[in-house]
Amino acid sequence: MNNPTLQVSDLTKTYNHGKPNEVRVLQGASLSVAPGEVVALVAPSGAGKSTLLHIAGLLDTPDSGAVRIAGQDMSHLPDRRRTAVRRATVGFIYQFHHLLPEFTALENIVLPQLANGASQKAAEARALALLDRVGIAERASHRPAALSGGEQQRVAFCRALANEPTLLLADEPTGNLDPDTSDRVFGALMALVRDTGLAAVIATHNLELAARMDRQLRLTGGVLAPL
Ligand code: ADP
Repeated sequence: MNNPTLQVSDLTKTYNHGKPNEVRVLQGASLSVAPGEVVALVAPSGAGKSTLLHIAGLLDTPDSGAVRIAGQDMSHLPDRRRTAVRRATVGFIYQFHHLLPEFTALENIVLPQLANGASQKAAEARALALLDRVGIAERASHRPAALSGGEQQRVAFCRALANEPTLLLADEPTGNLDPDTSDRVFGALMALVRDTGLAAVIATHNLELAARMDRQLRLTGGVLAPL
């Protein structure tokens, strides 16, 4: 059987260890995501979603427990190697688009590809294909300020997938949008994810969106359990 794309085991993470303001965020969280599987992560604010996603995406380290990507244990890799694995395999989407304001939609998707060694021509072709896939190819030359909130997030999705990651981690990707827009933009994201066969963990407060994913987990008391 194929290795899971992402496997996290028994993660623990405490902030402000031993101090009066100690926060035990993760207390043995485990999760396995297969290639092509889309998992909903549902949790109240403050439960530790961002902490979990940052650890799973190699932006942070746990106090204990393991993170494996494509079967490889990341725990003891030197920082430079972890960064290289992250760049090559993980795409992130946040609640706010974080696009570069002085660049067009197209350029925001081209730049990470150039940084990854792609040619300008190939990067532009891929960026346009991605924008077309999420229904906003005609907005390619617009800067973020000239795009609606939903369009900005669609560009952010394309940017996250620009370098063909195998794992997508999304933290409330439609949490900043009105319900109708959220519904449509989420549909665009799911179509993109299904096209590419990515493994994805998508945090959301919205139970209707969660129900459209393959599996639903709740983060509560520092552990993950089926919703
Ligand atoms: P969520 O994404 O579910 O809202 P977070 O992972 O951001 O939750 O935070 C979980 C808890 O950990 C919160 O109580 C938060 O205040 C605390 N926390 C997060 N990051 C830090 C940090 N760097 N230092 C201290 N406490 C933190």
